[in-house]
Amino acid sequence: MDHAISQLLVPPNQKIRLADIDPDDTHGVKKEDSKEILKQNLKRLSVLQYLLYAEARRALLVVLQGIDAAGKDGTIRHVMTGLNPQGVRVTPFKVPEGEEKRHDYLWRVHNAVPEYGQIGIFNRSHYEDVLVVRVHNLVPESVWSERYRQINEFERILEENGVTIVKFFLYISKDEQAKRFRARLDDKQKNWKFSPDDVKERSYWDAYIKAFEDMLRECSTRRAPWYVIPANHKWFRNLAVSQILVETLETMKISLPKPAADVSKIRFE
Ligand code: ADP
Repeated sequence: MDHAISQLLVPPNQKIRLADIDPDDTHGVKKEDSKEILKQNLKRLSVLQYLLYAEARRALLVVLQGIDAAGKDGTIRHVMTGLNPQGVRVTPFKVPEGEEKRHDYLWRVHNAVPEYGQIGIFNRSHYEDVLVVRVHNLVPESVWSERYRQINEFERILEENGVTIVKFFLYISKDEQAKRFRARLDDKQKNWKFSPDDVKERSYWDAYIKAFEDMLRECSTRRAPWYVIPANHKWFRNLAVSQILVETLETMKISLPKPAADVSKIRFE
């Protein structure tokens, strides 16, 4: 699995062609082995979260992007399930409204950055401002094209201030998206998830792919890397994301803070 992880990382300034990546890829991992590895990863995540919370000096920010039905919600449900809710905050980013619209695009994002000790999960993010915004020409190219640099600078500021950032692009095929939309239409339990807008957005598939490729090339940095997760197989997606989160937290080398007093000397009735 470790070997696979390095293959999922987008090296800085690397031109990515998503057509060269197989969204069905499972990097040699077998489904029957994945359950046990996922279980171990979730256990480890819970221990690492405890350390992060206890240390309370740094935070982890997890960014999830992907086309509609790529599995952002499912990833949160399956991978974050063992975490202590007191130390996690999920923020979904929708079409900006009200106060959000009256500020620069990073305002609402900065406001949602996790406190020290916490894990913050962005379900969509500031990257929408170079994705949907670009695909639908919501601002001119002269505006969105400057945002890659602005985003890198913003993330650099966060990183220098104790926020470790890890970004996942969940990559599904167009056929897989159709399958998932069909399931939303056929399964009464899933009908609520279906929006007619999804079908309209699907017709912009190629424009989205191009926008994703540029986002990956421009904004995968050493400090805030992007990982492309082949996500047609949900079990592999969950496994890969959990593994990368464990490894990211481990590289932070978090340890328990020193007790405030010499605990061996404390007596009470
Ligand atoms: P989900 O994330 O589950 O798909 P919604 O169906 O409410 O949730 O979709 C949120 C929508 O908000 C998406 O279509 C997304 O592209 C859009 N959105 C998010 N951020 C922005 C933004 N900055 N500008 C325009 N649209 C945005």
